[in-house]
Amino acid sequence: MSGGLSAGLRAVLLGAPGSGKGTQAERVAAARAVPAISTGDMLRQAVAEGSELGARVKSVMAAGLLVDDALMTEVVRERLGRSDACSGFILDGFPRTISQAEALDALLAACRHALDAVVLLEVPQEALVRRALGRKRDDDKEEVIRQRLELYREKTEPLVGHYAGRGLLVRVDGGRPMDDVTAAILARLAPA
Ligand code: AMP
Repeated sequence: MSGGLSAGLRAVLLGAPGSGKGTQAERVAAARAVPAISTGDMLRQAVAEGSELGARVKSVMAAGLLVDDALMTEVVRERLGRSDACSGFILDGFPRTISQAEALDALLAACRHALDAVVLLEVPQEALVRRALGRKRDDDKEEVIRQRLELYREKTEPLVGHYAGRGLLVRVDGGRPMDDVTAAILARLAPA
């Protein structure tokens, strides 16, 4: 747990596509006065702006595939270096692979910080597909949703064991009403 000089919340929200990570990240971040950092939102913005980054990730995102670890780590390194992330952050959508988790540890260690918690939002598979189909995003066609779920199982789910082994994992039932989920997350995080 962080204390003294590093007080603040450094947390990761983990969960399958459609688990409600984005919404909960925003709510928890607002309650704890830290930024919610969504790599998906950052990439969608880059695509919308037509930036060089956007051009590099556009087709990968549209296919429901993962952007490569080195590029993602660079995006997150730059974002965590901004002043608003000094006292903490909620990461939504990163890390998504073991290699990204290791890169995050290295980024934090370089400024003598560490993660306080990794919150896993648990939602049954049928509810995930239903929720994702209810959204209106370009990468929310059914076959792309299935692709993203498959990659989640293969590449991201191993992070559950990785963080549980380090005593950082907090499991929260994400199938309940939104307000209850937010309250449950806040109750399980160390107080500010
Ligand atoms: P999300 O909004 O988190 O579901 O992300 C949307 C898409 O952005 C994903 O399907 C990936 O193509 C890409 N993406 C976002 N974050 C990452 C990441 N950490 N690693 C690789 N690809 C990512």
